[in-house]
Amino acid sequence: MSEGLELPRFSIGVGDRFAHQAKAQLQACILAAEAGVEVIPVWNKSNREHTIIGSEPSSTRAAADAAVRELGWHKPYFLDADHINLKTVQRFLDPCDFFTLDVADLIGQPAQKEDVAEFIQRHPELLGEVVIPDIDEPFQIDRPFVEGVANKFLAAVKHASDIYQLLLQTKGAGRFVPEISMDETDFPQTPVELLIILAMIADEKIPIQTIAPKFTGRFNKGVDYVGDLAQFTKEFNEDLAAIAYAVSRYGLPKNLKLSVHSGSDKFSIYQPIYEAVQKFGAGVHLKTAGTTWLEELIGLAEAGGNGLAIAKEVYAEAFAHMDELTGPYATVINIDSAALPAPEAVNGWTSEQFTDALRHDQANPAYNPSFRQLLHVGFKVAAKMGPRYLEALEANEAVVAKNVTTNLFERHIKPVFLGQR
Ligand SMILES: [Zn+2]
Repeated sequence: MSEGLELPRFSIGVGDRFAHQAKAQLQACILAAEAGVEVIPVWNKSNREHTIIGSEPSSTRAAADAAVRELGWHKPYFLDADHINLKTVQRFLDPCDFFTLDVADLIGQPAQKEDVAEFIQRHPELLGEVVIPDIDEPFQIDRPFVEGVANKFLAAVKHASDIYQLLLQTKGAGRFVPEISMDETDFPQTPVELLIILAMIADEKIPIQTIAPKFTGRFNKGVDYVGDLAQFTKEFNEDLAAIAYAVSRYGLPKNLKLSVHSGSDKFSIYQPIYEAVQKFGAGVHLKTAGTTWLEELIGLAEAGGNGLAIAKEVYAEAFAHMDELTGPYATVINIDSAALPAPEAVNGWTSEQFTDALRHDQANPAYNPSFRQLLHVGFKVAAKMGPRYLEALEANEAVVAKNVTTNLFERHIKPVFLGQR
């Protein structure tokens, strides 16, 4: 089913909220290549982020193209219209060549009765004992279970199909990479559900190259994974097995891989991901986003002077407008307000105190995950500063870039794609 643009085996989604770090981000992929692994950059920015900042997808395209030109990157790179739907896709059509079709809102909407019956009839292989290579226990699936899964996901997949058809008409076949995302919902999808969903996607002839399920556990923004690591590891392995099976059984694209919408910095699952991907010879797309924005703040704080003053101002404003900023992210952050330092105290901090609290170094006793999460959603404050914030980034480009590159390469690429801690 796959033709035209193909997403290579390993890719990393990077978010560049203010369109100033594309070069520093690409530099991390160059370091990866030098270390012996090809990791393709995908610049992702969701409609929500564009709306909060007041930016247009075309600015992300311009920044990515300029970085690629300046650094002489000759491998593929992509621009991801992240979490779009039929209502929001329009302004992404021209600049983007990767589309994350977000159907989470339709999960749980009952499907048409005839559609459910037709699906079950078309898939007798999904009933009874289903043996998947590399999964120890065969899945035991009965008809009510498949009906249940269809009533939870079939309407969502049909909606993905509508978006895909629009993309086919406007961009043309093979001119873009489609992903389906189901991560922004309350309930994780199990491997057996994933298998059934993939059968639905194949029926709709959507040649997805990545799929983003919701995994077990909590994926709070900018901080580490919270959940049962053994369970995550088991399910991640079974997801890979289910994908390999679905690719051969249903003719989905051979490069179909999991997309991990990490919310950034899920360090404790990186090793299990690396090991599972190696074991299966699979690919993986690691989507990060806000981690780069926080490195901008760290770089500004490290620079001292006006940079540090701006970082402190962002914190004070974020603290004052906490409810407004955290509202849209309520399900994906967990801030202990008692652990937040008073802005007056922070105003007296040195560069080191600020970066120690913010930098995601769990070995540092001064690291403060609540401080970090509040600043993670605080980019709206920087957006409101307008040119003042951007000029500070430009004046301190070297120290900011160093933090952006080091973070992506050392903390994300090394553990996920090279198996190094
Ligand atoms: Zn997501």
